[in-house]
Amino acid sequence: MNLHKVFNSGVRGVGGIRAVSDVTFTLQRRSVVAIVGESGSGKSTVARLIAGLLPPTSGQIWLDGQRVPQRMAFHQKRQHRKNVQMIFQDPFSALNPYYTVRYHLERSLRNLVQVPKAEIKARASEALESVGLTPASDYLDKRPHELSGGQRQRLVAAQALIVEPKVILADEPTSMLDVSIRIGILNLMKRLKDENELSFVFITHDLASARYISDYILVMYAGRVIEYGKTDDVIDEPTHPYTRMLLAAVPDPKRLRGERNERIPLVGEPPNLSQLPSGCHFHPRCPYAMPECREVMPVDHMLTPDHKVACHLVKSQEAAANV
Ligand code: SF4
Ligand code: MG
Repeated sequence: MNLHKVFNSGVRGVGGIRAVSDVTFTLQRRSVVAIVGESGSGKSTVARLIAGLLPPTSGQIWLDGQRVPQRMAFHQKRQHRKNVQMIFQDPFSALNPYYTVRYHLERSLRNLVQVPKAEIKARASEALESVGLTPASDYLDKRPHELSGGQRQRLVAAQALIVEPKVILADEPTSMLDVSIRIGILNLMKRLKDENELSFVFITHDLASARYISDYILVMYAGRVIEYGKTDDVIDEPTHPYTRMLLAAVPDPKRLRGERNERIPLVGEPPNLSQLPSGCHFHPRCPYAMPECREVMPVDHMLTPDHKVACHLVKSQEAAANV
């Protein structure tokens, strides 16, 4: 899909903000792709582009073999929103404190799908039960503040599920939850994917959650994909120095890191997207930076048919191995 998004910075003399450059990946049915990176890496922008909440500057999104129009008419937007639902980090912001659980669910359904009145009630209860809020009758008349953080996130998941989407984009859905509740939400996502033929894009800065839930991991840095592959391959054989830095920052790296990779401490800050460093955007933070890294943007290098990495190091290691 080669997605690009440039925001106008609104500041005279400062160019566009390259939030996303050349992001391409395929999401298979019943699979989870985790998009991982620090804040400001462009992960949320990718989600918003896929959700149709922002039009891409260039590039295309395809869903089930059909191209999603770049600028959508009202009925197309509605259809796209039914197919691609988004769950945000903060369930409170997605819920209206004055309305009941029942109202939230029925509203999501009515907004996007034509359903006979008699069926609406049944669908609301079914959605609650499928996210583990059982019996539904205990929850239907509650308001958001009467639910715990984990229950609110389940309600938001039920709101997404009730319209029977094909894809759910979950933007840091567990980052505001306690660790004990987090695992419950991740397990819920796993189960929903298998039971409902759903695909998930799971956005997170937490590699441990990404490993737990995803089939593929896409690592973003400064708006670009710097490594992408099957989750086990990326975790066991992290190749890009940035991926290795992220893994080194995980509290229990032994479980997560391949033994062969030495630790690289995560140092420095992500760059300002309106003044990206030349060449490899990561070079100011990279302990392996070579002169060429300051000048030439690395291209994707296929390590295996499903594991790619954009780093000059890979190329020079291969060249050295071939001598
Ligand atoms: Fe580091 Fe160079 Fe690879 Fe960029 S291209 S990650 S600077 S070695
Ligand atoms: Mg974000």
